[in-house]
Amino acid sequence: MAKIGINLSEGKVNKEEKKEIIIGIDLGTTNSLVAYSKDGNPITVKGKDGKNSLIPSVIHFKSDKTVLVGDEAKEKLITDPENTIYSVKRLMGKSFNDVDNQKDYFGYRIIDTDDDSLVKIRVEDKFYSPIELSAQILKTLKKRIEENLENSVSKAVITVPAYFNDAQRQATKDAGKLAGLDVLRIVNEPTAAALAYGLSLDQNDGQTVAVYDLGGGTFDVSVLRIENGIFEVLSTNGNTFLGGDDLDRVIIDHWSSLYKLEDQLADANFKQALRLKAELAKKTLSKQETFKDTLNNFTLELSKDTFEVLINPLIEETLNCCNAALKDAKLSTAEIDHVLLVGGSTRVPLIKEKLQSLFGKVPNDTLDPDEVVALGAAIQADILAGNNREMLLLDITPLSLGIETVGGLMDVILPRNSKIPSSVGRNYTTSIDGQKNLKVAVYQGERDLVKDNRKLGEFILTDIPPMPAGIPKIEIQFLLDADGILKVKAKELRSEQETEIRIKPSYGISEEEMALMLLDSMKNAEADMAQRVLLEARNEANSVILASAKFIEQNAAIFSEVEVKDLKSYIQKLKEAVEGTDKDLINKAMDELNTFSRPLAERAMDHNISEAMKGKKL
Ligand code: AMP
Repeated sequence: MAKIGINLSEGKVNKEEKKEIIIGIDLGTTNSLVAYSKDGNPITVKGKDGKNSLIPSVIHFKSDKTVLVGDEAKEKLITDPENTIYSVKRLMGKSFNDVDNQKDYFGYRIIDTDDDSLVKIRVEDKFYSPIELSAQILKTLKKRIEENLENSVSKAVITVPAYFNDAQRQATKDAGKLAGLDVLRIVNEPTAAALAYGLSLDQNDGQTVAVYDLGGGTFDVSVLRIENGIFEVLSTNGNTFLGGDDLDRVIIDHWSSLYKLEDQLADANFKQALRLKAELAKKTLSKQETFKDTLNNFTLELSKDTFEVLINPLIEETLNCCNAALKDAKLSTAEIDHVLLVGGSTRVPLIKEKLQSLFGKVPNDTLDPDEVVALGAAIQADILAGNNREMLLLDITPLSLGIETVGGLMDVILPRNSKIPSSVGRNYTTSIDGQKNLKVAVYQGERDLVKDNRKLGEFILTDIPPMPAGIPKIEIQFLLDADGILKVKAKELRSEQETEIRIKPSYGISEEEMALMLLDSMKNAEADMAQRVLLEARNEANSVILASAKFIEQNAAIFSEVEVKDLKSYIQKLKEAVEGTDKDLINKAMDELNTFSRPLAERAMDHNISEAMKGKKL
């Protein structure tokens, strides 16, 4: 198969590919880093000071709307929390309903749309998706490596936690695209760690590995089976709100009661300074037996023994997760060949000791736990670049396959680089009351609007039984077989009515055209994304308008004239915004309408319940 290179800066397709560097990225919750392979050896890229490879995953919006990422942004967490975004990885691919019970954790504004649409973050009068925010971090990493190599890069491998679902993986890919990166592969973080430790190259019968990852704010453990270069995640477990920050917190609580610091802690600056001292104590006690320092007039002391007593319950919790993961994988501790340590917090000696007694073997800690995932990503990238012949690459789809949805948007069902054969199903519904037919138009390509992609075919699912909009459940299934034939099937699940077509996506398209389509999607990523968010905001707004009109019709008697008038004027404002092209204005009008109507909806619900009780209709 001939390889085709894309030269982004010149916008050309090169037939003869020059070996391009593919970069590996660890896009972390707390910190992110970028790595690449030089002569077969992975290395992480440090900042201009040549010291630190970690870039804090923090984004700050200055009042003039310019963006800071990394250390400079992290400094703003205290002084300007509303405009400083952290932990955006926790929001990737999530709807508001998914994160509703965690919203107090975030210091910035997450928009309450009270439904299943994807979360948005509000910074002053602008709305950002987690994808756009992650793209800012990725752009910073891209810039760092380009400055270091004095060359442009355009292809990347990005790691994600093993438990990330399809939506979270797709969101990570979209963020890469928006940052101008062609994301060749999404790799599980524990798989990357195993690659970094060279475990896949062992020619033995295969091995079983436990990867223990304790970062700044999250903990996860994965059990992997590696056989013939194929990595299989057997089980995962963890706690997405447990990490190094919690170890700092128990030290703060200890000092606070020991030195009676309650009054001082009311001062945000003192609190922050104490937090930094606690982190320093924790890090010092990874190497020394005692810690002593001063803050204002206080002397702060902590011995390693006391520290270990304090953190013991937290460490025990992580060990319980390890046992649960082993149970799910149906394995005993003795069946684990290697225990790999990932994340800065695994430097704590007590963790290594406890893991050693649990698994009966010394955990692997020769690589820097902060860098191990990025190093593994760089190895995977090098394999994809064709520099590591020992690894076989599985057959994959070169372009995404999907269908047209409301507003002419491309809904990707089989993302590019999916393994062949593959089978994916997704449920859809109707948008009009009593809708009898549903057109399924199949497209190939990476652009957000179907008009910019390649149409492969279409068919109509007929005889859907009459039902209100949103009630029918229509499953669309994509089956791509080993010969590259795509079968698309649509089935209404209540009536079992179904239709299907068969297409060969690679028919009539040359590799050069494919490469051009990819190049095009990257060149237009920003404009496409803007168009997509506008269309999505409009679609969402239109359903809010319809639902609000229905709501007034059904409940007008319960509300005062003024309330109905106000509600109507909010709806009108939203209608006007939908006519325009400013997605932030649409989101703002939707936000205002939701805020105004929420107490009314609650009242209507209370009223309807009490009416029902009165009439004993229940
Ligand atoms: P990560 O998210 O993997 O970068 O993890 C960062 C976490 O590792 C933070 O909570 C740090 O305080 C913690 N950490 C870094 N170095 C050490 C150390 N020497 N001992 C204990 N914890 C550390």
